[in-house]
Amino acid sequence: MSIEKIKTLIIGSGPAGYTAAIYASRADLKPVLYTGLEPGGQLTTTTEVDNFPGYPDGVDGPKMMIELQKQAERFGTDVRIGLVTKVELNKNIGGIHKVMVDNKKEIEAETIIISTGATAKYLGLPSEERLKGGGVSACAVCDGFFYKGQDVAIVGGGDTAAEEATYLSNICSNVTMLVRKGQMRASKAMQHRVNSRENIKIIYHSEIEEVLGENVVEGVRVINNQNKKIQDIAVTGLFIAIGHKPNTEIFKGQLEMDDAGYILTEGKTTHTNFPGVFASGDVQDKDYRQAVTAAGTGCMAALDAERYLAGLE
Ligand code: NDP
Repeated sequence: MSIEKIKTLIIGSGPAGYTAAIYASRADLKPVLYTGLEPGGQLTTTTEVDNFPGYPDGVDGPKMMIELQKQAERFGTDVRIGLVTKVELNKNIGGIHKVMVDNKKEIEAETIIISTGATAKYLGLPSEERLKGGGVSACAVCDGFFYKGQDVAIVGGGDTAAEEATYLSNICSNVTMLVRKGQMRASKAMQHRVNSRENIKIIYHSEIEEVLGENVVEGVRVINNQNKKIQDIAVTGLFIAIGHKPNTEIFKGQLEMDDAGYILTEGKTTHTNFPGVFASGDVQDKDYRQAVTAAGTGCMAALDAERYLAGLE
């Protein structure tokens, strides 16, 4: 099996990866981009994106990602479906980084731009694990349709939970929002949307003890963490919206990360602790996590890669 040698490998296909691809291909770095398991990334699980500059009427998340892909391909990015399964990074300036795709294809890259994003977190209950695919979901926009006209619950008090509760309230009969604190973390605008829906009921100070049902979700057992009272709520779907975990497993032991596993970058740049390896998007940003900030750092990563390669010549 021959080893493919390339200048720039981009891992991940969210706004960061595709923006890096647009810039890298225009700079003639002939980038190869591997999409990962979720082509288009997290925005493919959202409906309307209203805060990306340049779309005065909003844009459908999946549509925006297809347009970004087309834009990257227009300048010659080689977009491939595949999952990077192993990396062997080189500590030396100008060193070649070895990458394995789908456990079989070997690539040697002079530069790597990591844009692998972040993945939804779960509560970690055995009953939740058992009922994944049987009514437990971490993506209301992907799975909400299956619960049309039914009663569902959603866990979390952030913008994601608020947005998804609002989305579900358009499809489902009743939505119970389970928030563990006495207030929501979501922005005031998002909270206002939730509060204006008659079929969304918010239960504060609530935590799930168990997801009820053998093969499919039949309800949730909820404890009030103040007075310890327990109640069972009948629902057929449970949506988990409690934040995300960075997709950095394959880089552990090589790249420097923070305690939560986000890749550390140097100062204002996208440089990691390995020369020629750059990180952009949610994989290195737990503060802003917006499509536009991810796209911005994708651009920075491509410029950093271009400068790094120019410096080697
Ligand atoms: P956040 O981290 O902001 O919120 C997570 C929520 O889940 C919090 O309410 C947290 O509670 C709760 N939570 C965490 N762990 C548990 C647990 N084990 N059990 C119960 N509840 C739990 O994540 P989001 O995904 O909501 O948002 C991430 C980022 O994306 C934010 O910066 C947000 O602003 C942004 N975003 C923006 C959107 C937009 O502008 N359209 C849409 C969606 C997200 P607690 O508060 O108690 O910690």
